[in-house]
Amino acid sequence: MSIKVVKFGGSSLADAEHFRKVAAIVKADPARRYVVPSAPGKRFSDDIKVTDMLYTCYQMIREKKSMQEVDEYYKNIIERYDSIIRELGLDFDLSGEYEYIKNAMLHRPGRDFVASRGEYLSGLILAKYLGFPFIDAENVIFFKENGAFDQEKTDRVLSAELAQYRHAVIPGFYGCAANGTVKTFSRGGSDITGSIVARAAGATLYENWTDVSGFLMADPRIVKDPATIETITYRELRELSYMGATVLHEDAVFPVRSAGIPINIRNTNRPEDQGTMIVSSTTHYDTERVITGIAGKKEFSVINIEKDMMNAEVGFGRKVLEILEENGISFEHLPSGIDTMSVVTATAALEGKRERILQAICRTVSPDSVTIEDDMALVAVVGRGMVKAKGTAARVFDALASKGINIRMIDQGSSELNIIVGIADDEYTDAIRAIYEEFVH
Ligand code: ASP
Repeated sequence: MSIKVVKFGGSSLADAEHFRKVAAIVKADPARRYVVPSAPGKRFSDDIKVTDMLYTCYQMIREKKSMQEVDEYYKNIIERYDSIIRELGLDFDLSGEYEYIKNAMLHRPGRDFVASRGEYLSGLILAKYLGFPFIDAENVIFFKENGAFDQEKTDRVLSAELAQYRHAVIPGFYGCAANGTVKTFSRGGSDITGSIVARAAGATLYENWTDVSGFLMADPRIVKDPATIETITYRELRELSYMGATVLHEDAVFPVRSAGIPINIRNTNRPEDQGTMIVSSTTHYDTERVITGIAGKKEFSVINIEKDMMNAEVGFGRKVLEILEENGISFEHLPSGIDTMSVVTATAALEGKRERILQAICRTVSPDSVTIEDDMALVAVVGRGMVKAKGTAARVFDALASKGINIRMIDQGSSELNIIVGIADDEYTDAIRAIYEEFVH
């Protein structure tokens, strides 16, 4: 029997019209049994997400703004929910909840509690509208003493709770800290809740409904109308999101991944689109397309170290990396030659530490030269199809060469899942377009 857990993001619950779409989606498939909502998001581009409004409210109280001012602002939040209730024609009064939250806020119960009320209230309304029981995340999702998510306890309590209900609404984003207070995940954390619920429910599929029809092969701000990725593996996704492609919270893959549950990214406004399937592994791959996606980031720096006979010096690399470690810097890539070693890091990570690092390198490994080069962008070409296809690297380099783009660094992961090239920051968009055209058109 198939069980689907469906999570709806903020834009999917921004107003009454979207609540209707959400209900239609849930009711269209009896396997869609457990629903995880976000707080109402933006209705238009200048709008403010309810979560942000709640953070502002909390901040106003901390800054000791007058009661009247806080109340005025808080009324806007109430109105977001009340307009949804009204327009859905629900016979539902949340005034007791609003009052309780306001009083709690004034008595400083913590920033996380305040932020979590966005999901809590939207969950109450959605449960009422769907006619499903409401399970408060506070009673079923737990964090450990050190603040990390407590998977073991959550799995145990949540699966026992879910087993009692055919359907339920469980608000996203928060749970219960070890000291009994409400704690949230980081921003966008309802994605994580959906994944946790899918795991505890023993779901066959985790559907994550948002406002796009899945992952695109490239950033649409750079490539016009990029193609949608139909199937992507967790590992490919990790590579792409690390390099800046975002749709899903990074931590959302872990609970379902180890349980072997695929994630399907779907569009609430276009339910007919199949979206993107995220799976552990695929036996088939898209033979027409060798690559799955292209992503990248700007503003990297390269620390170039040269020393004659470096290759014979045991411990050279370790000493350099130790210097970075002591300065709290993680490196992204480590391309090396016979007598050269380059360390690629985010430029921001070097801020205020450049001199210290250069001096430490000179002192510790006595190089012939050491310099830092800035303004490098990294572009990752990712695809499980590369393992089988010959000439992929050649095509990437040709595409770049044909646009006169100079490659400053090349790194191919040993798993043959990606090829990463370093180019000048100001050639970033041209590089992505050139590679996309080469492989997709
Ligand atoms: N409402 C929260 C946020 O805006 C969590 C979420 O939507 O996933 O970050």
